Amino acid sequence: MTKDLDFDADKALAKEFLSNFADIDGEAKYMNILQEVANRKMRAVQIDLEDLFNYKDLDEEFLRRVTENTRRYIGIFADAIDELMPEPTEAFTDDDHDILMTQRSDEGPENMDGSDPHQKMPSEIKRYFEVYISPSSKGKPFAIREVKASHIGQLVKISGIVTRCSDVKPLMQVAVYTCEECGFEIYQEVTARVFMPLFGCPSRRCSINQTKGNLILQLRASKFLKFQEVYHLCC
Ligand SMILES: [Zn+2]
Repeated sequence: MTKDLDFDADKALAKEFLSNFADIDGEAKYMNILQEVANRKMRAVQIDLEDLFNYKDLDEEFLRRVTENTRRYIGIFADAIDELMPEPTEAFTDDDHDILMTQRSDEGPENMDGSDPHQKMPSEIKRYFEVYISPSSKGKPFAIREVKASHIGQLVKISGIVTRCSDVKPLMQVAVYTCEECGFEIYQEVTARVFMPLFGCPSRRCSINQTKGNLILQLRASKFLKFQEVYHLCC
């Protein structure tokens, strides 16, 4: 419980930083980026830890938490960005994402059944942007052999020789299905590299009717991240 409260406080810190950080030209760097995202000019929001370090109201403990629990803090920054996102200032043509979102809101609560977690639309699906956290140039990089299990989830900087790279592949973040019986959209959040697809429809309508409708995976509506494997010369 206290953990949740801390994350809320840190979301407030993230919002404050994104709104108030000024670069060397005095520009509101991150709010400018968010405007570009709102105008569909940009998709990646890169949070530079160097900026967090140079921020006028630097909170060293916050910086430490972001560095040591980076995976979690990417989500916290994304939540903060959801709340800060400005209205678009330029017209843009709707892409697949916008068309799907319009369809969903037209169908409205009729097509949703909030009681089931699989039917609550995850915020990742609504987002047009992706958040990345990049390390500060300060601090010595690790050698690969120094990286331990305890570093999982942290932002780790390593130096060494790359021997091979895979292609950039899509990594499923949210799998979206539609049910053949009830027509509901069903969401499955994926946090690992492999996942077990859902088969029977979990919606209330299907369980009341005892139909367990067949689920069809909707690739176009699903959300993917970019994923690349880099092979590294050991030691
Ligand atoms: Zn169903």
